[in-house]
Amino acid sequence: MVVKTKNRLGFSLLMALAGILLGLLIQVSLAVWTESAGQAAARRELALLGRRAEEALRTRAAWEESERRWAAESGGQILADKFAAVREGDILLLVNPWNPLPEGYVPELTEVGTEGHRLDVRCAAAFEQMLADCKAAGCRPVLISSYRTQEMQQELYDNKIKRLLDAGTPAAEAPSVAAMSVAVPGTSEHQLGLAADVIDENYTNLDQGQERTATQQWLMANCWSYGFILRYPNGTTDLTGIIYEPWHYRYIGLQAAEEIHRLGLTLEEYTALRGGH
Ligand SMILES: [Zn+2]
Repeated sequence: MVVKTKNRLGFSLLMALAGILLGLLIQVSLAVWTESAGQAAARRELALLGRRAEEALRTRAAWEESERRWAAESGGQILADKFAAVREGDILLLVNPWNPLPEGYVPELTEVGTEGHRLDVRCAAAFEQMLADCKAAGCRPVLISSYRTQEMQQELYDNKIKRLLDAGTPAAEAPSVAAMSVAVPGTSEHQLGLAADVIDENYTNLDQGQERTATQQWLMANCWSYGFILRYPNGTTDLTGIIYEPWHYRYIGLQAAEEIHRLGLTLEEYTALRGGH
């Protein structure tokens, strides 16, 4: 009997111990599994970051190589000009929702096209040549907007807000929604005199459909060789603050335009590469 009781007690203890061990084992397994899942997530995150970092490094390397090539081919002239020009009024001046125009900025302007359009004297000839070549290629480009004064920009912005309110946009949201397509006065590239909106005569809507026109196809492929870039490419709103605008072209000079076109950058990214903003 005593032996039996002892055995039963031993058995019970053994079972309890086994239960504890099993519980521990389950806990440890769960912990290991959780850790693995966490580790896997961390690895994915690292891999993603790595890819982004690699991409950034590749872009920087490509840009630096391009800078060397341009410097060699131009005897350092273009490079020197470009960096000497890092000042107010520079053709590479970054103007966006976070970088307003310098106080009292007034470019030297000259007439382009018809209907009293004006652009900065440093890009007017390149712009006219670009449009002439675009026409010669069989397209029908029409210049619809060029230099704007602060007052003109204010009027456009106010009108945009009014249209949004009329369409039922809540008053609290109207200014920020408006700013995505009509820049807040003081932050528009049109006030620089270095930007122009060009549309196709056969398709006059300012929407994404513009990108399919012959004019935009030609301009998007060739504008860089005149020193212009498509300033607000598709999918870059987070960087530029402005909606996709397959009609707004900005002059930045031949070297920067060629590099931005080839490397697939925005002016914001290019400026960052050059160590600005
Ligand atoms: Zn524009």
